[in-house]
Amino acid sequence: MTDCPQCGVALMGNSFFCDQCGTLDPHSTVSSPIECENHVGQPAVAVCSVCGKPVCGDCALSRDGKFYCDTTDHITIGNEWVSLHRCQSDFEADLYLANLRSAGIAARFFSPGSHISLAWSAFDSPVRIMVKRPDRDQARQVLIRLGLLDDDIPQTSS
Ligand SMILES: [Zn+2]
Ligand SMILES: [Zn+2]
Ligand SMILES: [Zn+2]
Repeated sequence: MTDCPQCGVALMGNSFFCDQCGTLDPHSTVSSPIECENHVGQPAVAVCSVCGKPVCGDCALSRDGKFYCDTTDHITIGNEWVSLHRCQSDFEADLYLANLRSAGIAARFFSPGSHISLAWSAFDSPVRIMVKRPDRDQARQVLIRLGLLDDDIPQTSS
């Protein structure tokens, strides 16, 4: 296990980017270099910490030590939304969203697989469910009550 060169967080063994800030792991075992989604042939330096889009040095936006893509509101989402849970599939994520929304909690998910599906197949929990920061505890309670979330999973990401 190595640490992220940007923010120092321990990188998960099967991940090729830092979950906290989006920096691509220079020691990653993903064989082919990941390209910027906007510029074919340009190597990506990071993935958007909201949506997972790979971006080169020209496209990456950095705010508070995290990387974002050039999609308009992703910096805002990165500041105001927190990731609540990870799922294996969009289908599963839809179930979580439906439950949260019926409890009156705004929720959305990002499926980075739509960006770099091949490379992401090495990553085991790609779909990220996000809620607004003030709703996080309430959202966790809703999912715990429904048995969709374990009570005491360690919260590693914020
Ligand atoms: Zn990092
Ligand atoms: Zn993005
Ligand atoms: Zn680019």
